[in-house]
Amino acid sequence: MSVLVVLEQQAGKWHRMSWETLAAAQQFGASLGLPVEVAIAGSGVGALAAEAATKKVAKVYAVEHELLKDYTADCYTAAIEELVRKVNPKIVLFPHTYQVRDFAPKLATRFDQVLISDVIAVRFDSPSPVFVRLLFQGKLNGDVRVGGEGPHFVSIQAGAWRADTLESGTGAVETFTPALDASKIRQKPEAPFRESARAVDLTAAEIIVSVGRGIKEKENIPVVEELAKALGAELAASRPICDAGWLPMERQVGSSGQTVAPKVYIAVGISGAIQHLVGMKGAKTIVAINKDANAPIFEVADYGIVGDLFEVVPALVAEVKKAKA
Ligand SMILES: Cc1cc2nc3c(=O)[nH]c(=O)nc-3n(C[C@H](O)[C@H](O)[C@H](O)COP(=O)(O)OP(=O)(O)OC[C@H]3O[C@@H](n4cnc5c(N)ncnc54)[C@H](O)[C@@H]3O)c2cc1C
Repeated sequence: MSVLVVLEQQAGKWHRMSWETLAAAQQFGASLGLPVEVAIAGSGVGALAAEAATKKVAKVYAVEHELLKDYTADCYTAAIEELVRKVNPKIVLFPHTYQVRDFAPKLATRFDQVLISDVIAVRFDSPSPVFVRLLFQGKLNGDVRVGGEGPHFVSIQAGAWRADTLESGTGAVETFTPALDASKIRQKPEAPFRESARAVDLTAAEIIVSVGRGIKEKENIPVVEELAKALGAELAASRPICDAGWLPMERQVGSSGQTVAPKVYIAVGISGAIQHLVGMKGAKTIVAINKDANAPIFEVADYGIVGDLFEVVPALVAEVKKAKA
């Protein structure tokens, strides 16, 4: 028995959620006392498999087949099904990507299971793991307790685990060639689903100043822009700011925007709705500026300033400039 984590690549490049999903698998494995095994499917995935084997894993399966070169749900389901039947894992873990949403529920039903999707946390305080997932568009958290031996199929939400907790090691690489039958593949590959445009790559930013509805109107955006400029930070926003067109969509952080993990995240006039938190709670240090001392953002903040942003932000800008002079 093992925790088998199915990582994702497109055109020979890792999906950006791969390492955080492997970090989650390492946590699952350590808590359950099970080895972690990795699967990476495609055609010519040897180099990626070798890279995954430099992490603390027992084995990496390079699931190789010409028919896996371009993704189809039929091929991926058949290939991973065959591997799961061979390996017999307790948990099969995926990143919650568009591709996984497409094929993993179908894969799970082949084992009379469901995909426990979009998991944000896990508890190992009872004989079987309890997976926490968002319900009703993030308004409630639900606990899912699994029964039976498994395999249990679980996908994790972006940003819920941190890639920088990943442990290194040396794993063995094994090539696994599934017996795919081209006549049973009903689908023709199409261009891969394109995730939202990333003209601005917030994921690479070390410092982010993020603005929310507390800014009140578009004309006030320069107030926070000044702080971003003074700190050499990227400017980001909560969804209402982007929906209103005050900042471009690619600067949105959250469940329907980008997931970021900078060294410092300064949330200015942001309440801390769950859909925002899932996109930024991986930041190393969170600073929140909000005039409401009970705003939920303070629950995740390392430093909180309760006050009017129109007073606090200019004062911070002045201090930063003074410190840099
Ligand atoms: C399916 C779905 C997906 C979503 N995806 C996202 C997403 O990706 N990203 C996202 O951010 N949201 C998302 N949302 C929206 C989310 O639920 C919240 O509505 C949104 O995050 C709230 O934005 P906000 O914090 O800027 O505004 P508000 O919740 O209105 O908060 C404004 C805050 O500013 C404070 N404030 C007001 N005036 C001042 C002042 N002068 N000084 C200091 N503080 C002040 C207030 O106390 C308040 O806490 C999504 C919602 C759904 C249903």
